[in-house]
Amino acid sequence: MMMIKIVVAGPRGNMGREAVKMVSAADNFELVAVVDIEHEGFKMKDISDMEPLDVPIYVNMDECFQQIECDILIDLTAPKAGKQHMLTAFDYGVRPVVGTTGFSEEDVKELSSIAEEKKVGAIIAPNFAIGAILMMKFSQMAARYMPHVEIIEQHHDRKLDAPSGTAVKTAQMISEVREKVQQGHPDEEETLEGAKGAEFDGLRIHSVRLPGLVAHQEVIFGGEGQTLKIRHDSINRTSFMPGIKLACETVMNLEGLIYGLEHIIE
Ligand code: NAP
Repeated sequence: MMMIKIVVAGPRGNMGREAVKMVSAADNFELVAVVDIEHEGFKMKDISDMEPLDVPIYVNMDECFQQIECDILIDLTAPKAGKQHMLTAFDYGVRPVVGTTGFSEEDVKELSSIAEEKKVGAIIAPNFAIGAILMMKFSQMAARYMPHVEIIEQHHDRKLDAPSGTAVKTAQMISEVREKVQQGHPDEEETLEGAKGAEFDGLRIHSVRLPGLVAHQEVIFGGEGQTLKIRHDSINRTSFMPGIKLACETVMNLEGLIYGLEHIIE
């Protein structure tokens, strides 16, 4: 069996920890290094809050790719770092599988043209949970018939970006199919700024941040005499791992960038 060699960036984070476990447990994957912002020159087993693995830690990603042969970079870090990490991976022909959120549409376009030019496979998915993909697909289906819609997303309070990548992606998918409507009263006024949430192409997105939450989203449709609510809850980070595993297997056969797990599951 061909072993796929993987580097994980962000190995001490909530997501990165789970990814390290998933990669080391998979028969067809080998964890060859991790990229952290500290612990240069150490092995994971030397660090008390890391898995006891004989795997080197790098702080400089260039150095990591110069010294370690690898096929894939899994990036689960922070919005600004994620883009830079992808650019570095492209320079070394390493395929990025990115769960980090906060990419703008321009970022995705730019990264997509670089991936195509360099003929390197890449996947960015704002949500790797299969149930969340279904929530987005069902929302797109409902929006054809019920164009009045708002999105409420809820996350833990360590999340850096708002709204969530999933909420924006859902809004984009809804916007592709829904008839343009004026939502709410034409003369409505916000007496407290922000009360109506953020606007995306005529629909509203609300972001809730509280300790105790993981990742949740409700898409509420309103029609004459009826409402429809489509809700997904990730109750822990293991929910994202089958999607990341599938993306790693898929990216090996790609040339260019895919944005969104919905394009790799039927
Ligand atoms: P987290 O717990 O804050 O973990 C992020 C980790 O990345 C931290 O350990 C942080 O180090 C590290 N880091 C930050 N900048 C770095 C850099 N330049 N190089 C190396 N490591 C760096 O966050 P999380 O909950 O795991 O989430 C990570 C990312 O995944 C976020 O963008 C989040 O929105 C996203 N996410 C995506 C999905 C999905 O399905 N796509 C699901 C959940 C979360 P310090 O602790 O020292 O700051």
